[in-house]
Amino acid sequence: MDISNTPIANINKDGTIDVLLDIYFECTFCTDCCKLNNIPATEQDILNMMDNGIEIDQAIEVLSPILIPSKNLENGLIKAYILRKKPFVKECAFLDEKGRCKVHEFKPLACQLYPFSIRKRNSFYQVIIHPDCICNFIEINVEEDKTNTLQIVSDLMSTLSIDD
Ligand code: SF4
Ligand code: SF4
Repeated sequence: MDISNTPIANINKDGTIDVLLDIYFECTFCTDCCKLNNIPATEQDILNMMDNGIEIDQAIEVLSPILIPSKNLENGLIKAYILRKKPFVKECAFLDEKGRCKVHEFKPLACQLYPFSIRKRNSFYQVIIHPDCICNFIEINVEEDKTNTLQIVSDLMSTLSIDD
C-alpha cells in the first residue's frame, strides 16, 4: 500500500490537533532517508547552514533551484536546492561514518520533518506522510497505541515554527 501523501493530522489555528489516522512511528536511525533521497534545502535552510560555518558550495549540489511545495502557501511552490551528496554516491554529504548527522542542530526543515511533511490548507496546517516516503517504519492503524500520531505532531510543533 502506498502511504505517501496520506494526511495523519490537522493542526488548527488555535494549535489544537485533530488526528486523522492512527499511526505508530519511532525513528530507528537506519539512515536510509539520508542515503537514498534527494534532500531539498530551502534558501532559509542554506542561510542557517551558512550562519553555522558551512560554505554554500559545501551545502548544496549545484546552484540550479528546484521547485517544491511550500508549507505556508496553499498549492504554492518555493525555490529549493538539492543538499550536497558524497562524491559518486547518493548519500548526503553530512552523514558521518557512524551514521550520525554532522549538521543535526541546523539541518534542513525537510530532515527535521521526515518521514512527514506539512502543507497549508485554508485555515489550518495538515501533517502528511512525506510524498516520497521511503521509510519502512511507519505502522498504520495501530490498535494498541492510538496516541502516537498525537505525540508525533506535538513533537513536530514543539521543534518547528510553522508560521515562518
Ligand atoms: S526516518 Fe525512517 S528512513 Fe529515516 S532514519 Fe528514521 S527510520 Fe530510517
Ligand atoms: S542533513 Fe543530516 S539528517 Fe539531513 S539527510 Fe543529511 S545526514 Fe541526513
